[in-house]
Amino acid sequence: MKTAYEATAAFARSMDAADPLAPFKNQFHFPQHNGQNSIYFCGNSLGLQAKTVEAAIRQELKDWQDMAVEGYFRAKHPWLYYQYNFSTALAAMMGCSEEEVTVMNTLTVNLHLILQSFYRPGKERCRIIMEAGAFPSDQYAIETLVQLHGLQPDETIVEIHPRAGEKLLRTEDILQTIREQGPSLALVLMGGINYYTGQFYDMPAITAAAHEAGAYAGWDLAHVAGNIPLELHNWDVDFAVWCSYKYLNGGPGAAGGLYVHERFGNDPAFPRLGGWWGNDEKTRFKMEKGFVPRSGAAGWQISTAQVFNMVALKASLELLHQAGIRQLRNKSIALTGYLEYLLQQLPLPCEIITPADPQQRGAQLSLFFPENGKAIHTKMMEQGIICDYREPGVIRLAPAPMYCSFTDVFRLYEVLRNFSV
Ligand SMILES: *Cc1c(COP(=O)(O)O)cnc(C)c1O
Repeated sequence: MKTAYEATAAFARSMDAADPLAPFKNQFHFPQHNGQNSIYFCGNSLGLQAKTVEAAIRQELKDWQDMAVEGYFRAKHPWLYYQYNFSTALAAMMGCSEEEVTVMNTLTVNLHLILQSFYRPGKERCRIIMEAGAFPSDQYAIETLVQLHGLQPDETIVEIHPRAGEKLLRTEDILQTIREQGPSLALVLMGGINYYTGQFYDMPAITAAAHEAGAYAGWDLAHVAGNIPLELHNWDVDFAVWCSYKYLNGGPGAAGGLYVHERFGNDPAFPRLGGWWGNDEKTRFKMEKGFVPRSGAAGWQISTAQVFNMVALKASLELLHQAGIRQLRNKSIALTGYLEYLLQQLPLPCEIITPADPQQRGAQLSLFFPENGKAIHTKMMEQGIICDYREPGVIRLAPAPMYCSFTDVFRLYEVLRNFSV
């Protein structure tokens, strides 16, 4: 569907009136600016708090007050099984079975953990392909992992760079690099969406190429979870990790997500680091010797569920699931398309570096300012437009479809129109 956009408040209002997801906006708390809701385009960094969160936290506090240890079994949402509260919603978003997904720890911790299973370098097959300019935490994780195995990062990590004069990666170059590495390649690890450019990579093609080379394919989906519907199982992705505080609105430090394909999850001999929460429930409390992993991603659980880091996520996922990831995506394509259209009407001294093709991006547009990017960002913030700035030179705008409206996007346009930049 191609909408003929118009740069008028009336057009934005008519889009909001026709939007079946519009009522969800009122279910979230917005930071205030001059007594009004800010325009919040930072959901790719920290999602907003759903209004249902406070009562949900009170419930857990109360159950702890009233029942203490009994709450593991008798709380309204028994803590012993707390991580199962997310299975249905996450499986629908990620395109996998409920067994293939679990929630625990935080993203980088889960990345380290799962790489104990999926990165066991041999003499020849030891290389890791990443995108150049990956999120720093991923870079640090891989650099130190490689060193832990006694290998040299600069000989072991193969970074794929954009071609000279370009800012995005071409799929053909990624596939070519994978083919070139061939038998020396152990792992392809990429962000599903690059945090800086907003480029959404061709996950099925890259995963297939990694497998053809005899390597695993793992994905950091921090910027994808809750943003773009996936088919992790059908694409044969080996593993994926994500955080829950961006588009999933789980709150700062919320427990992160893990996907592991069932061929590993159903193989108890597949190596991993264990703990009692990943042990078969039937024998967990027998306190016996001999780790027996639960089937599925749950077999990578280690410790007791971090209930208070999961409550807000539970409340938020209920709303996201109700909205539906495909409906969210449809709205997102239209909303981000409208943002792009409005920006193109303005004489801004910047370039939108995110792909123009909606299939190659999510909600985010990255605006590259060769100069003054930081100053322009400060001015936007002063006008109640919450967005962020990433060195070098990029203002990221991410209208999350769950709580951003076409009118929000239009208000941003009005603010920018009034800048004499
Ligand atoms: C936000 C983000 C992270 C954050 O990792 P934490 O361990 O949750 O702090 C990691 N990777 C990417 C690509 C991100 O965008």
